[in-house]
Amino acid sequence: MAELNGEPAWHCMVPDEVAVARLATRFAAAAEPPLVGYLRGDLGAGKTTFARAYVHALGYVGYVKSPSYGLLETYETATQKVLHLDLYRIEDPEELEFLALRDLFDDRTVLLVEWPDRGTGHLPAADFVLEFGETAGERHIDCRGMTDRGLGLARAVVESLE
Ligand code: ADP
Ligand code: MG
Repeated sequence: MAELNGEPAWHCMVPDEVAVARLATRFAAAAEPPLVGYLRGDLGAGKTTFARAYVHALGYVGYVKSPSYGLLETYETATQKVLHLDLYRIEDPEELEFLALRDLFDDRTVLLVEWPDRGTGHLPAADFVLEFGETAGERHIDCRGMTDRGLGLARAVVESLE
C-alpha cells in the first residue's frame, strides 16, 4: 500500500459513476461489521453515489435516497445493517444525540457518514476515511485505514482491485 500524508493509503481513479459503484461493491463485499466509514469531499463529489452502490451491492432492492433532509437512512440487508448518515444540513452537532446512534449501532452495522466534520464530538471514530476529490479534472477516491479493522478492509479492497 502506498502512503498518503505518512499514513498507509491508496487512491483509485474514478472517471465515472460506474467506477465509483465498482469500488463501493468491493467495499461492501470485503466489509466485516461493525465498521464506521467517513465519506469526505465537496458537494457533488460522489459520496452518495458510493453509499447508494454500497447498499445495492448488498442486495438491497429499492431506492437509496440522499439522507440530507432526514439526516439518517437505514438499510437492512442479509449480512449488514447500513446506517447512511448525511450531516450536510445539520445546524448543530448536538442534533446527532437525538438520533441515538449508539442504540442503533450493533455488531452487524456499517455506518457511512457524509460530511463527518459537521458532527465532530458526536460521532463514533472512523475505521476508514474515503476522500472524494478531483485533481486536474480527474476524479479520484483516496482511502485511509484509521484502525486495524479499517486498515484490514482497505487492504482487502486494494487487493481485490489488483
Ligand atoms: P455528493 O453526495 O458527494 O454530494 P453525489 O454522489 O450526489 O455527490 O454525486 C453528484 C453527481 O455526480 C451525481 O449526478 C453523480 O452521478 C455524479 N458522479 C458521482 N461520482 C462521479 C464520478 N466519479 N464521475 C462522474 N460523475 C460522478
Ligand atoms: Mg451526498
